[in-house]
Amino acid sequence: MSSTSTDVIVVGSGIAGLSAALSAKEAGADVVVVERATQAESGGNTRYTEAYLRMKSLDEVSDDFTDALLSDFMGYPDPGLLLETLDERATWSGATATLNVVDHAVVTTLAERAGSTLSWLSGFGVRFDALPTAFLTTSTTRLMPVGGGLALVEDLTRAAQERGVRFLFETTARSLITEEARVAGLRVVGAEGPADLLGFVVLACGGYEGNSEMLARYHGEKGMLCRPVARGGHYNKGEGIEMALAIGAQGAGNFGLFHAEPVDPRSGVAEAAIFALPYGVLVNTGGERFTDEAPGPVDAWYERITRRIHNQPDGLAYLVLDAEAQAVPNLRTALRTDQPPIAADSLGEMAEKLGVPVAAFASTIADFNRACGEGTYDPTRVDGLATKGLEPPKSNWARPVVRAPFHAYPVIAANVFTYGGLRTNERAEVLDRDGRVIAGLYAAGEMTGLYYTNYTGSTSVLRGAVFGKIGGALAAQAAVPANAMAQ
Ligand SMILES: Cc1cc2nc3c(=O)[nH]c(=O)nc-3n(C[C@H](O)[C@H](O)[C@H](O)COP(=O)(O)OP(=O)(O)OC[C@H]3O[C@@H](n4cnc5c(N)ncnc54)[C@H](O)[C@@H]3O)c2cc1C
Repeated sequence: MSSTSTDVIVVGSGIAGLSAALSAKEAGADVVVVERATQAESGGNTRYTEAYLRMKSLDEVSDDFTDALLSDFMGYPDPGLLLETLDERATWSGATATLNVVDHAVVTTLAERAGSTLSWLSGFGVRFDALPTAFLTTSTTRLMPVGGGLALVEDLTRAAQERGVRFLFETTARSLITEEARVAGLRVVGAEGPADLLGFVVLACGGYEGNSEMLARYHGEKGMLCRPVARGGHYNKGEGIEMALAIGAQGAGNFGLFHAEPVDPRSGVAEAAIFALPYGVLVNTGGERFTDEAPGPVDAWYERITRRIHNQPDGLAYLVLDAEAQAVPNLRTALRTDQPPIAADSLGEMAEKLGVPVAAFASTIADFNRACGEGTYDPTRVDGLATKGLEPPKSNWARPVVRAPFHAYPVIAANVFTYGGLRTNERAEVLDRDGRVIAGLYAAGEMTGLYYTNYTGSTSVLRGAVFGKIGGALAAQAAVPANAMAQ
């Protein structure tokens, strides 16, 4: 078996891996990127995202950025241990060092470095702008790269190749090579069989949304109902997480959950999202409502509503829109499926076409219509036009479903990315189950654990860029100390 030495080995070529590779190269290292896909399919989830970024401007994160991330936790952590996490990491007890709660230092670093990281990416040809999004009502501010994640992957791959980063496409990372307590390299498998690459390792190979065995292991029997939201997720099979856990790395984030998006299961386009939920009525396969379709701006609520869809029989629901709802300005922007609506001239015909019990569906819509009150309807803002005396309520945009023709879209929860990953510190170093740094090993992006219950939207690409850049530079400085001193 061949064995080659380099300074820094980066696994994965999405936003996290490309940021790591470019910053390691800038810091003077020889860099090899290991990527399981062909170049045409490289870039995992990053290739398919529009890459909304929770920014107020190119320099500043959104006003709610840090609060939103820090308030996302689950369960009832020991308050004494939580208090300790506010002190310097070096002073933490062994119990606190392994507490699975959001890490203040990581969030603060993400917020502080986001702006400078985007400026740095601009230097490789990426342009950012505040372009229209698919959300008809919003709770925060966003920028995005012009050309989306595809532009990120193409521009950054080209920049890395021009600077001498070597890419091994169609090569899969299988396991870490350790020497005493440190990581010394990586075993990979490519067309020529297995090979060992020796050097400092930055893992940036995504979550496990493309691995049905891990989905069942962590999410239970319904895990398989949620396919990756786009083609790129199928390449993310969780090996990076598993190989680090196998040498004693600590887990972080919620291994039971994933970022859920409402999509039309009939469509094969990337992100066939149905973000028009607030303007219609959602029924399950029993013809019954089961959730408030419109608690607030769609960008802040779609994930929680999608989880309720996932919890229905077969993980399936239908969004029903009458002719008035179909006339909401720009509604098509919020319907990203390429499949036509299921159309019907009467509610009875709709029930039959959906295969839901006709009587139950009729009484659901009748109850809903009776509960709709008077008020001013405004689809462009949270209008407070709520149902009265209905359980579950519809808190905004509640207008009766009466005017034919009726349209319906099937909706399932798609898996955008998984929440559970590796525990890293603000230097992108992977920590072990005693809270110690695993020497020689860095991680960034989706494969690190940051989220617990409700995804703070538009932060996943940012965290990949910020911690990829940090991890790549530190790996290079550790591998080539002379260059670090010269900088
Ligand atoms: C349709 C869609 C819309 C999204 N919208 C947004 C959004 O608007 N804003 C936002 O912030 N986030 C969004 N996300 C999430 C975000 O895009 C991802 O979480 C982020 O891009 C992940 O970056 P990454 O570099 O960590 O992983 P990825 O981009 O997934 O890259 C991982 C790479 O590792 C490779 N790989 C995997 N396993 C191995 C292995 N064993 N060996 C070698 N290579 C391997 C994969 O082939 C892939 O190229 C969206 C995702 C999708 C799919």
